Amino acid sequence: MRSTKQKNTPAEVALRRELHRRGFRYRVDYPMPDITRARPDIAFPRAKVAIFVDGCFWHSCPIHATRPRANREWWEAKLAANVERDRRHDRELEAAGWTVFHVWEHEDPIDAADRIGDVVARRSPDH
Ligand SMILES: [Zn+2]
Repeated sequence: MRSTKQKNTPAEVALRRELHRRGFRYRVDYPMPDITRARPDIAFPRAKVAIFVDGCFWHSCPIHATRPRANREWWEAKLAANVERDRRHDRELEAAGWTVFHVWEHEDPIDAADRIGDVVARRSPDH
């Protein structure tokens, strides 16, 4: 198993490509140390929109979450801690005025870009 934080996963790349195609410009893997230790996969600093593309395994997607058979209890605790950490990061960002989107790796990038693009466009009309 690789680390929880892989870069440039196919889902991330597909979503970035779709947003870019629609004319949106964004930052990738954006550090915001004053607010949170999380680094949004995609960030719109002016619109204050942060996007995390979550892997189905590591973030326990309701459709595809699986649990390795070996060391089951360890995995349960580990994956539950991931979800808790995600929620904590969301709260940190929201407290600083950011809107947070989580996109599952299984999600259609066009659907995801639809829901994100509306919010970004509203917040930064001249993106
Ligand atoms: Zn999934």
